[in-house]
Amino acid sequence: MRKKIVAGNWKMNKNYDEGIELFISIQQKLRDYHGECKTVVIPPFIHISRIRELIEVENLFLGGQNISDKPSGAFTGEISADMLWSVGANYVIIGHSERRKYFGETNQTCAQKINLAIENKLVPIYCVGEVVEQRKSGIHFKVIEQQINEGIFVFGLQEFKEIVIAYEPVWAIGTGLTATKEQAQEVHAFIRELISKKYTEKIAQNTTILYGGSCNPSNAEDLFSQSDVDGGLIGGASLNADDFIAIIKANK
Ligand code: PEP
Repeated sequence: MRKKIVAGNWKMNKNYDEGIELFISIQQKLRDYHGECKTVVIPPFIHISRIRELIEVENLFLGGQNISDKPSGAFTGEISADMLWSVGANYVIIGHSERRKYFGETNQTCAQKINLAIENKLVPIYCVGEVVEQRKSGIHFKVIEQQINEGIFVFGLQEFKEIVIAYEPVWAIGTGLTATKEQAQEVHAFIRELISKKYTEKIAQNTTILYGGSCNPSNAEDLFSQSDVDGGLIGGASLNADDFIAIIKANK
């Protein structure tokens, strides 16, 4: 059975005190939640070790927003996979569209990061998705296939099994425009089919594929009701504890 996950990517929001306060509020509201969806909170790096000490409820995990593509060394300002794991993170986002756009990340650098993540016991959440022009010109399946081929199909079965995928149409991120449930399902089913062809149907059925892009309490249930949508990677709405909890509860 594949895992249901809702992950909240805080991006570069919340200073230390604000972040701790937000986490405490999320955890408080999660105390009466006993559903099967795992929650992953993905704050800026500086919050992680303190939040790790505060975690008291089950099924609540921490992630990082990025790691270096190098294991260690003279790379000023970078954070390694080992460092992230050592402060208590279990997940890491790789290849978010903002990293691809502003920091020049390619499918190849993503593959290097995923390799380091897995070697250091972190679950990579690998983001794929098309920009608006690519959708309009009908090449979105081709774009996504290339991101999948070059970013994660370079791994053997043992490594691949550790990976979570997030389909995030770039035109839906932070824009208020959400993919319809049919659009999300279509791409998720396409990705699952690629996995089935590359590995096995069993592996495809066990791979968690999240949707991300302006997911909120009003549209989450519809999106998560789709058979190939296993949860969400949430940006803006994860900064509000009530909205975030409502989205987690929508992942039945
Ligand atoms: C994201 O950044 O991964 C994201 C999905 O953002 P938002 O929910 O704000 O669109």
